[in-house]
Amino acid sequence: MSIVENITVIKNEIADAALRAGRQPNEVKIIAVTKNVAAAKAQEAVRAGLTDLGENRVQELQNKFSEVTGARWHLIGHLQSNKVKYIVDKVDLIHSLDRWSLALEIDRRAREAGKVLSALVQVNVAKETTKFGLHVNEVKDFVTEAAILRGIYIRGLMTIAPLVQDPEEVRPVFRQLRQIAEDLKEIPGIKMEHLSMGMTNDYRIAVEEGATMVRIGTAIFGRREI
Ligand SMILES: *Cc1c(COP(=O)(O)O)cnc(C)c1O
Repeated sequence: MSIVENITVIKNEIADAALRAGRQPNEVKIIAVTKNVAAAKAQEAVRAGLTDLGENRVQELQNKFSEVTGARWHLIGHLQSNKVKYIVDKVDLIHSLDRWSLALEIDRRAREAGKVLSALVQVNVAKETTKFGLHVNEVKDFVTEAAILRGIYIRGLMTIAPLVQDPEEVRPVFRQLRQIAEDLKEIPGIKMEHLSMGMTNDYRIAVEEGATMVRIGTAIFGRREI
């Protein structure tokens, strides 16, 4: 199937999942993950209406930023502090804020650039040792302190669920992220409006559990040849 056809299928799946959960389909934004995907294909997705693109490497984001037109960029992967300066003027949203040193660097670079950068706090809900992200019990203090930084605006949470055969198994992970966000929403200076959760394997479940952003690569562009 073509990229356009894949997108149509995904949109239908998202709409069905949203309706099953009593939500509106338009509450869910697709972030098209373009890692290891050629710029021309990324451009095809934009042309098909997916204007929010996600990259997990700074270098690749920088390259495609200049090659693809009409896109908004999301940094979704682990971000080294010394690379923040390369993306501060390019990204709409950082999904992977996972430590205080990174928060300070984003804050500093954003203020230098005269802007406020939106970020989601990455939470390692599933406690996978291989994954980045704050532990569940660290999130509240972190968000409370980050709320004070003038160069960062915290707008929600992000998680990566474990890759499992049956995506139904990760439903509790998504449910827990939503619960954590619920518990934080009274913190002043932030807005818990986004839950970035769900990938090719598990986005339907994530939408049923309240995702407002799903990050989808394979289902749009096909399997990556790494
Ligand atoms: C690669 C990646 C995705 C997309 O994964 P697919 O399974 O190809 O949909 C989503 N989120 C992050 C953080 C990724 O690195």
